[in-house]
Amino acid sequence: MNIAISTSTQTQRRSILVTGGAGFLGSHLCDRLIAQGHDVLCVDNYFTGHKKNIEHLIGHPRFEVLRHDVTFPLYVEVDQIYNLASPASPIHYQHDPVQTTKTIVHGAINMLGLAKRLRCRIFQASTSEVYGDAIVHPQVEGYWGNVNPTGPRSCYDEGKRCAETLFFDYHRRHGLDIKVARIFNTYGPRMHPDDGRVVSNFIVQALKGEPITIYGDGSQTRSFCYVDDLIDGFIRLMDTPDGVTGPVNLGNPVEFTMRQLAELTIEMCGSRSALTFLPLPQDDPRQRRPDITLAQQMLGWQPTIALREGLRHTIAYFDRLLSGQEVNA
Ligand code: NAD
Ligand code: UDP
Ligand code: UDP
Repeated sequence: MNIAISTSTQTQRRSILVTGGAGFLGSHLCDRLIAQGHDVLCVDNYFTGHKKNIEHLIGHPRFEVLRHDVTFPLYVEVDQIYNLASPASPIHYQHDPVQTTKTIVHGAINMLGLAKRLRCRIFQASTSEVYGDAIVHPQVEGYWGNVNPTGPRSCYDEGKRCAETLFFDYHRRHGLDIKVARIFNTYGPRMHPDDGRVVSNFIVQALKGEPITIYGDGSQTRSFCYVDDLIDGFIRLMDTPDGVTGPVNLGNPVEFTMRQLAELTIEMCGSRSALTFLPLPQDDPRQRRPDITLAQQMLGWQPTIALREGLRHTIAYFDRLLSGQEVNA
Protein backbone atom coordinates (compact mmCIF):
# COMPACT_ATOMS: atom_id res chain seq x y z
CA MET A 1 0.00 0.00 0.00
CA ASN A 2 1.46 3.35 -0.98
CA ILE A 3 1.07 5.75 1.90
CA ALA A 4 3.44 8.48 0.70
CA ILE A 5 1.98 11.99 0.73
CA SER A 6 0.37 12.62 -2.61
CA THR A 7 1.28 16.13 -3.77
CA SER A 8 -1.82 16.49 -5.91
CA THR A 9 -4.12 15.88 -2.95
CA GLN A 10 -2.03 17.41 -0.18
CA THR A 11 -4.02 19.83 1.96
CA GLN A 12 -3.53 21.52 5.32
CA ARG A 13 -2.32 18.88 7.82
CA ARG A 14 -5.05 18.02 10.28
CA SER A 15 -5.63 15.64 13.12
CA ILE A 16 -8.61 13.50 12.11
CA LEU A 17 -10.66 11.00 14.09
CA VAL A 18 -12.23 8.10 12.17
CA THR A 19 -14.69 6.04 14.23
CA GLY A 20 -15.20 2.56 12.79
CA GLY A 21 -11.76 3.01 11.23
CA ALA A 22 -10.93 -0.71 11.23
CA GLY A 23 -13.99 -1.54 9.14
CA PHE A 24 -14.38 -1.84 5.40
CA LEU A 25 -15.01 1.83 4.56
CA GLY A 26 -13.18 3.22 7.60
CA SER A 27 -9.91 1.51 6.72
CA HIS A 28 -10.00 2.87 3.16
CA LEU A 29 -10.72 6.32 4.56
CA CYS A 30 -7.75 6.02 6.97
CA ASP A 31 -5.52 5.09 4.00
CA ARG A 32 -6.69 8.09 2.00
CA LEU A 33 -6.29 10.57 4.88
CA ILE A 34 -2.81 9.28 5.70
CA ALA A 35 -1.90 9.57 2.01
CA GLN A 36 -3.07 13.20 2.10
CA GLY A 37 -0.63 13.92 4.93
CA HIS A 38 -3.05 14.04 7.86
CA ASP A 39 -2.68 12.55 11.33
CA VAL A 40 -5.31 9.85 11.80
CA LEU A 41 -6.77 8.51 15.03
CA CYS A 42 -8.68 5.31 14.28
CA VAL A 43 -11.21 4.34 16.95
CA ASP A 44 -12.88 0.93 16.79
CA ASN A 45 -14.19 -1.79 19.12
CA TYR A 46 -13.58 -4.49 16.46
CA PHE A 47 -17.20 -5.67 16.48
CA THR A 48 -17.24 -6.06 12.70
CA GLY A 49 -13.89 -4.47 11.88
CA HIS A 50 -10.55 -6.21 11.89
CA LYS A 51 -6.99 -5.31 12.82
CA LYS A 52 -5.97 -6.90 9.52
CA ASN A 53 -7.65 -4.00 7.67
CA ILE A 54 -5.32 -1.46 9.26
CA GLU A 55 -2.29 -3.66 9.94
CA HIS A 56 -0.30 -1.99 7.14
CA LEU A 57 -0.78 1.41 8.84
CA ILE A 58 0.41 0.29 12.29
CA GLY A 59 3.75 1.90 13.00
CA HIS A 60 3.15 4.76 10.60
CA PRO A 61 4.16 7.94 12.47
CA ARG A 62 0.89 9.74 11.63
CA PHE A 63 -1.43 6.81 12.46
CA GLU A 64 -2.79 5.82 15.84
CA VAL A 65 -5.42 3.24 16.90
CA LEU A 66 -7.58 3.21 19.99
CA ARG A 67 -9.81 0.29 20.97
CA HIS A 68 -12.94 2.03 22.18
CA ASP A 69 -16.71 1.62 22.05
CA VAL A 70 -18.40 4.84 20.89
CA THR A 71 -21.38 4.25 23.18
CA PHE A 72 -19.00 5.52 25.91
CA PRO A 73 -17.72 9.11 26.04
CA LEU A 74 -14.45 9.85 24.32
CA TYR A 75 -12.12 12.67 25.30
CA VAL A 76 -9.48 13.30 22.64
CA GLU A 77 -8.23 16.39 20.78
CA VAL A 78 -8.75 16.42 17.00
CA ASP A 79 -9.58 18.87 14.20
CA GLN A 80 -12.18 16.78 12.34
CA ILE A 81 -14.35 13.72 12.99
CA TYR A 82 -15.65 11.11 10.55
CA ASN A 83 -18.28 9.04 12.39
CA LEU A 84 -18.52 5.62 10.73
CA ALA A 85 -18.82 3.31 13.76
CA SER A 86 -21.80 0.98 13.24
CA PRO A 87 -22.30 -2.49 11.89
CA ALA A 88 -23.54 -2.17 8.31
CA SER A 89 -24.59 -5.59 7.07
CA PRO A 90 -28.06 -6.89 7.96
CA ILE A 91 -26.79 -10.06 9.67
CA HIS A 92 -24.45 -8.07 11.88
CA TYR A 93 -26.76 -5.22 12.77
CA GLN A 94 -29.58 -7.70 13.53
CA HIS A 95 -27.30 -9.87 15.70
CA ASP A 96 -27.77 -7.56 18.72
CA PRO A 97 -30.31 -4.98 17.59
CA VAL A 98 -30.41 -3.03 20.87
CA GLN A 99 -26.64 -2.64 20.78
CA THR A 100 -26.93 -1.50 17.15
CA THR A 101 -29.31 1.31 18.09
CA LYS A 102 -27.09 2.24 21.06
CA THR A 103 -24.00 2.35 18.86
CA ILE A 104 -25.68 4.52 16.26
CA VAL A 105 -27.60 6.85 18.61
CA HIS A 106 -25.40 7.05 21.75
CA GLY A 107 -22.36 6.96 19.46
CA ALA A 108 -23.72 9.97 17.57
CA ILE A 109 -24.44 11.85 20.82
CA ASN A 110 -20.94 11.22 22.12
CA MET A 111 -19.25 12.19 18.87
CA LEU A 112 -21.45 15.30 18.58
CA GLY A 113 -20.61 16.19 22.20
CA LEU A 114 -16.93 15.79 21.33
CA ALA A 115 -17.31 17.95 18.22
CA LYS A 116 -19.19 20.57 20.24
CA ARG A 117 -16.44 20.77 22.87
CA LEU A 118 -13.74 20.97 20.19
CA ARG A 119 -15.80 23.22 17.84
CA CYS A 120 -14.76 20.91 15.04
CA ARG A 121 -16.36 19.68 11.84
CA ILE A 122 -18.10 16.30 11.98
CA PHE A 123 -19.15 13.90 9.20
CA GLN A 124 -21.89 11.29 9.60
CA ALA A 125 -21.99 8.04 7.61
CA SER A 126 -25.74 7.86 7.11
CA THR A 127 -27.39 5.46 4.72
CA SER A 128 -29.87 4.90 1.93
CA GLU A 129 -31.73 2.81 4.52
CA VAL A 130 -33.23 6.07 5.82
CA TYR A 131 -35.45 5.82 2.70
CA GLY A 132 -36.56 2.29 3.71
CA ASP A 133 -38.57 0.40 1.09
CA ALA A 134 -38.72 3.54 -1.03
CA ILE A 135 -41.81 4.42 -3.05
CA VAL A 136 -40.01 7.33 -4.76
CA HIS A 137 -37.52 6.14 -7.34
CA PRO A 138 -34.70 7.03 -7.76
CA GLN A 139 -34.30 8.32 -4.22
CA VAL A 140 -33.81 12.07 -3.81
CA GLU A 141 -32.65 13.69 -0.57
CA GLY A 142 -36.01 15.45 -0.15
CA TYR A 143 -37.85 12.13 0.09
CA TRP A 144 -38.68 11.29 3.73
CA GLY A 145 -38.77 7.55 3.25
CA ASN A 146 -40.93 4.52 3.89
CA VAL A 147 -39.44 2.84 6.95
CA ASN A 148 -41.01 0.16 9.13
CA PRO A 149 -40.33 1.33 12.71
CA THR A 150 -40.86 -2.10 14.30
CA GLY A 151 -39.29 -4.62 11.93
CA PRO A 152 -35.96 -6.48 11.99
CA ARG A 153 -34.19 -3.72 10.00
CA SER A 154 -35.57 -0.91 12.21
CA CYS A 155 -32.71 -0.93 14.74
CA TYR A 156 -30.43 0.22 11.94
CA ASP A 157 -32.81 2.28 9.80
CA GLU A 158 -34.43 4.17 12.66
CA GLY A 159 -31.10 4.45 14.48
CA LYS A 160 -29.58 6.15 11.43
CA ARG A 161 -32.64 8.39 11.04
CA CYS A 162 -32.37 9.41 14.71
CA ALA A 163 -28.63 10.06 14.24
CA GLU A 164 -29.43 12.42 11.35
CA THR A 165 -31.95 14.20 13.61
CA LEU A 166 -29.27 14.60 16.29
CA PHE A 167 -26.79 15.96 13.76
CA PHE A 168 -29.27 18.58 12.55
CA ASP A 169 -30.33 19.51 16.09
CA TYR A 170 -26.69 20.03 17.14
CA HIS A 171 -26.28 22.10 13.99
CA ARG A 172 -29.33 24.26 14.74
CA ARG A 173 -28.87 24.57 18.52
CA HIS A 174 -25.09 24.70 18.79
CA GLY A 175 -24.02 25.87 15.34
CA LEU A 176 -22.06 22.66 14.79
CA ASP A 177 -20.47 22.26 11.37
CA ILE A 178 -22.01 18.97 10.18
CA LYS A 179 -21.69 16.96 6.96
CA VAL A 180 -24.22 14.16 6.45
CA ALA A 181 -23.69 11.61 3.65
CA ARG A 182 -26.35 9.06 2.73
CA ILE A 183 -24.32 6.14 1.48
CA PHE A 184 -25.77 3.64 -0.98
CA ASN A 185 -24.51 0.03 -1.35
CA THR A 186 -20.73 0.12 -1.61
CA TYR A 187 -18.36 -2.77 -2.28
CA GLY A 188 -14.68 -3.47 -2.71
CA PRO A 189 -11.63 -5.07 -1.11
CA ARG A 190 -11.80 -5.55 2.70
CA MET A 191 -15.49 -6.37 2.78
CA HIS A 192 -15.72 -9.18 5.25
CA PRO A 193 -16.18 -12.53 3.45
CA ASP A 194 -18.81 -13.67 5.98
CA ASP A 195 -20.72 -10.48 6.61
CA GLY A 196 -23.59 -11.56 4.38
CA ARG A 197 -23.66 -8.61 2.00
CA VAL A 198 -24.59 -9.52 -1.50
CA VAL A 199 -21.39 -8.67 -3.39
CA SER A 200 -19.09 -10.52 -0.98
CA ASN A 201 -21.50 -13.47 -0.70
CA PHE A 202 -21.78 -13.90 -4.47
CA ILE A 203 -18.03 -13.57 -5.11
CA VAL A 204 -17.06 -15.99 -2.34
CA GLN A 205 -19.70 -18.49 -3.48
CA ALA A 206 -18.63 -18.20 -7.13
CA LEU A 207 -14.93 -18.60 -6.31
CA LYS A 208 -15.65 -21.67 -4.18
CA GLY A 209 -17.98 -23.13 -6.83
CA GLU A 210 -20.85 -23.13 -4.32
CA PRO A 211 -24.45 -22.25 -5.23
CA ILE A 212 -25.15 -18.51 -5.51
CA THR A 213 -27.83 -17.63 -2.94
CA ILE A 214 -30.41 -15.32 -4.48
CA TYR A 215 -32.99 -14.11 -1.97
CA GLY A 216 -36.47 -13.92 -3.48
CA ASP A 217 -36.67 -14.13 -7.26
CA GLY A 218 -33.67 -11.83 -7.74
CA SER A 219 -35.70 -9.05 -9.34
CA GLN A 220 -35.00 -6.59 -6.48
CA THR A 221 -32.47 -3.92 -7.46
CA ARG A 222 -29.46 -2.19 -5.93
CA SER A 223 -26.87 0.25 -7.31
CA PHE A 224 -23.29 -0.57 -6.40
CA CYS A 225 -20.56 2.00 -5.80
CA TYR A 226 -16.89 1.03 -5.76
CA VAL A 227 -15.19 2.01 -2.50
CA ASP A 228 -12.58 4.36 -4.06
CA ASP A 229 -15.32 6.48 -5.63
CA LEU A 230 -17.20 6.66 -2.34
CA ILE A 231 -14.14 7.77 -0.36
CA ASP A 232 -13.62 10.58 -2.93
CA GLY A 233 -17.17 11.66 -2.19
CA PHE A 234 -16.57 11.60 1.59
CA ILE A 235 -13.55 13.86 1.30
CA ARG A 236 -15.21 16.26 -1.11
CA LEU A 237 -18.19 16.59 1.23
CA MET A 238 -15.96 17.08 4.28
CA ASP A 239 -14.08 19.83 2.41
CA THR A 240 -17.19 21.86 1.52
CA PRO A 241 -17.52 25.28 3.18
CA ASP A 242 -19.21 25.82 6.58
CA GLY A 243 -22.97 25.71 6.23
CA VAL A 244 -23.04 22.96 3.59
CA THR A 245 -24.61 20.21 5.68
CA GLY A 246 -26.19 17.69 3.31
CA PRO A 247 -27.78 15.26 3.59
CA VAL A 248 -26.31 14.26 0.27
CA ASN A 249 -26.65 10.92 -1.51
CA LEU A 250 -23.36 9.20 -2.36
CA GLY A 251 -23.66 6.14 -4.55
CA ASN A 252 -23.50 4.83 -8.07
CA PRO A 253 -26.70 5.51 -10.02
CA VAL A 254 -26.42 2.45 -12.27
CA GLU A 255 -29.03 -0.05 -11.13
CA PHE A 256 -28.87 -3.86 -11.37
CA THR A 257 -31.16 -6.70 -10.32
CA MET A 258 -29.64 -9.25 -7.95
CA ARG A 259 -30.06 -11.84 -10.68
CA GLN A 260 -27.95 -9.71 -13.05
CA LEU A 261 -25.33 -9.30 -10.35
CA ALA A 262 -25.24 -13.07 -9.78
CA GLU A 263 -24.82 -13.78 -13.50
CA LEU A 264 -22.10 -11.16 -13.92
CA THR A 265 -20.22 -12.47 -10.88
CA ILE A 266 -20.35 -16.06 -12.16
CA GLU A 267 -19.10 -14.94 -15.57
CA MET A 268 -16.27 -12.80 -14.17
CA CYS A 269 -15.13 -15.50 -11.73
CA GLY A 270 -15.17 -18.08 -14.54
CA SER A 271 -17.33 -20.13 -12.17
CA ARG A 272 -19.74 -23.00 -12.72
CA SER A 273 -21.84 -22.16 -9.66
CA ALA A 274 -25.58 -22.72 -10.00
CA LEU A 275 -28.21 -20.24 -8.80
CA THR A 276 -30.27 -21.18 -5.75
CA PHE A 277 -33.32 -19.21 -4.62
CA LEU A 278 -33.95 -18.60 -0.90
CA PRO A 279 -36.76 -16.66 0.83
CA LEU A 280 -36.60 -12.87 0.61
CA PRO A 281 -35.86 -11.38 4.07
CA GLN A 282 -38.62 -9.31 5.69
CA ASP A 283 -38.71 -5.61 4.65
CA ASP A 284 -36.00 -6.11 2.03
CA PRO A 285 -36.22 -2.97 -0.17
CA ARG A 286 -37.48 -3.82 -3.68
CA GLN A 287 -35.71 -1.11 -5.61
CA ARG A 288 -32.83 1.23 -4.78
CA ARG A 289 -30.96 3.80 -6.84
CA PRO A 290 -29.58 7.15 -5.74
CA ASP A 291 -30.40 10.40 -7.47
CA ILE A 292 -26.95 12.01 -7.29
CA THR A 293 -27.83 15.38 -8.85
CA LEU A 294 -27.05 17.15 -5.57
CA ALA A 295 -23.62 15.50 -5.22
CA GLN A 296 -22.84 16.37 -8.84
CA GLN A 297 -23.80 20.02 -8.35
CA MET A 298 -22.47 20.56 -4.83
CA LEU A 299 -19.35 18.39 -4.86
CA GLY A 300 -18.62 18.02 -8.58
CA TRP A 301 -18.67 14.30 -7.76
CA GLN A 302 -19.89 11.24 -9.58
CA PRO A 303 -18.64 7.66 -9.60
CA THR A 304 -16.07 6.80 -12.26
CA ILE A 305 -15.64 3.06 -11.70
CA ALA A 306 -18.16 0.83 -13.46
CA LEU A 307 -19.40 -2.35 -11.79
CA ARG A 308 -17.36 -4.63 -14.07
CA GLU A 309 -14.10 -2.84 -13.22
CA GLY A 310 -14.85 -2.66 -9.50
CA LEU A 311 -15.81 -6.32 -9.44
CA ARG A 312 -12.52 -7.20 -11.12
CA HIS A 313 -10.56 -5.62 -8.23
CA THR A 314 -12.87 -7.13 -5.62
CA ILE A 315 -12.77 -10.62 -7.11
CA ALA A 316 -8.95 -10.43 -7.23
CA TYR A 317 -8.95 -9.45 -3.53
CA PHE A 318 -11.19 -12.35 -2.49
CA ASP A 319 -9.23 -14.74 -4.66
CA ARG A 320 -6.02 -13.80 -2.80
CA LEU A 321 -7.81 -13.89 0.57
CA LEU A 322 -9.31 -17.34 0.01
CA SER A 323 -5.97 -18.75 -1.13
CA GLY A 324 -4.26 -17.42 2.02
CA GLN A 325 -2.18 -14.73 0.30
CA GLU A 326 -1.34 -11.28 1.69
CA VAL A 327 -4.16 -8.88 0.79
CA ASN A 328 -3.36 -5.44 2.21
CA ALA A 329 0.33 -5.07 1.47
P1 NAD B 1 -18.06 -2.33 8.74
O1 NAD B 1 -18.90 -3.22 9.57
O2 NAD B 1 -16.97 -2.93 7.93
O3 NAD B 1 -17.42 -1.17 9.63
C1 NAD B 1 -18.02 -0.64 10.76
C2 NAD B 1 -16.94 -0.46 11.82
O4 NAD B 1 -17.54 0.10 13.00
C3 NAD B 1 -16.29 -1.78 12.22
O5 NAD B 1 -14.90 -1.64 12.19
C4 NAD B 1 -16.82 -2.02 13.62
O6 NAD B 1 -15.96 -2.80 14.42
C5 NAD B 1 -17.00 -0.60 14.12
N1 NAD B 1 -17.94 -0.50 15.25
C6 NAD B 1 -19.17 -1.06 15.34
N2 NAD B 1 -19.72 -0.75 16.53
C7 NAD B 1 -18.82 0.05 17.17
C8 NAD B 1 -18.81 0.68 18.45
N3 NAD B 1 -19.84 0.57 19.29
N4 NAD B 1 -17.72 1.40 18.79
C9 NAD B 1 -16.65 1.52 17.95
N5 NAD B 1 -16.61 0.93 16.74
C10 NAD B 1 -17.69 0.20 16.36
O7 NAD B 1 -19.08 -1.52 7.80
P2 NAD B 1 -18.79 -0.47 6.63
O8 NAD B 1 -19.43 -0.99 5.41
O9 NAD B 1 -17.39 -0.06 6.63
O10 NAD B 1 -19.71 0.75 7.13
C11 NAD B 1 -19.14 1.92 7.72
C12 NAD B 1 -20.25 2.94 7.93
O11 NAD B 1 -20.85 3.27 6.68
C13 NAD B 1 -21.37 2.47 8.84
O12 NAD B 1 -21.78 3.55 9.65
C14 NAD B 1 -22.48 2.11 7.89
O13 NAD B 1 -23.75 2.26 8.48
C15 NAD B 1 -22.25 3.09 6.75
N6 NAD B 1 -22.78 2.60 5.48
C16 NAD B 1 -22.12 1.64 4.75
C17 NAD B 1 -22.65 1.19 3.55
C18 NAD B 1 -21.95 0.17 2.70
O14 NAD B 1 -22.48 -0.20 1.65
N7 NAD B 1 -20.77 -0.31 3.03
C19 NAD B 1 -23.88 1.71 3.09
C20 NAD B 1 -24.53 2.65 3.88
C21 NAD B 1 -23.96 3.11 5.05
N1 UDP C 1 -18.78 13.84 25.16
C1 UDP C 1 -17.65 13.13 24.80
N2 UDP C 1 -16.49 13.80 24.62
C2 UDP C 1 -16.36 15.14 24.81
C3 UDP C 1 -17.53 15.86 25.16
C4 UDP C 1 -18.72 15.19 25.32
O1 UDP C 1 -17.71 11.92 24.63
O2 UDP C 1 -15.27 15.67 24.63
C5 UDP C 1 -20.02 13.11 25.32
C6 UDP C 1 -20.55 13.16 26.74
O3 UDP C 1 -20.76 11.81 27.13
C7 UDP C 1 -21.89 13.83 26.63
C8 UDP C 1 -22.24 13.76 25.16
O4 UDP C 1 -20.99 13.74 24.49
O5 UDP C 1 -22.88 13.17 27.36
C9 UDP C 1 -23.04 14.92 24.69
O6 UDP C 1 -22.35 16.11 25.01
P1 UDP C 1 -23.09 17.49 25.15
O7 UDP C 1 -22.09 18.49 25.59
O8 UDP C 1 -23.84 17.78 23.91
O9 UDP C 1 -24.22 17.24 26.23
P2 UDP C 1 -24.17 16.94 27.80
O10 UDP C 1 -24.77 15.58 27.92
O11 UDP C 1 -22.75 17.01 28.27
O12 UDP C 1 -25.01 18.02 28.33
N1 UDP D 1 -29.03 -10.76 -1.25
C1 UDP D 1 -29.11 -11.93 -1.99
N2 UDP D 1 -28.25 -12.94 -1.67
C2 UDP D 1 -27.31 -12.84 -0.70
C3 UDP D 1 -27.23 -11.64 0.04
C4 UDP D 1 -28.11 -10.62 -0.25
O1 UDP D 1 -29.92 -12.06 -2.91
O2 UDP D 1 -26.56 -13.82 -0.50
C5 UDP D 1 -29.94 -9.63 -1.60
C6 UDP D 1 -30.67 -9.01 -0.43
O3 UDP D 1 -31.88 -9.70 -0.16
C7 UDP D 1 -30.91 -7.61 -0.93
C8 UDP D 1 -29.69 -7.32 -1.81
O4 UDP D 1 -29.14 -8.60 -2.13
O5 UDP D 1 -32.06 -7.57 -1.75
C9 UDP D 1 -28.62 -6.47 -1.12
O6 UDP D 1 -28.34 -7.06 0.13
P1 UDP D 1 -27.21 -6.51 1.11
O7 UDP D 1 -27.35 -7.29 2.39
O8 UDP D 1 -25.90 -6.52 0.43
O9 UDP D 1 -27.57 -4.98 1.35
P2 UDP D 1 -28.92 -4.18 1.68
O10 UDP D 1 -30.08 -5.12 1.74
O11 UDP D 1 -28.63 -3.57 3.01
O12 UDP D 1 -29.02 -3.23 0.56
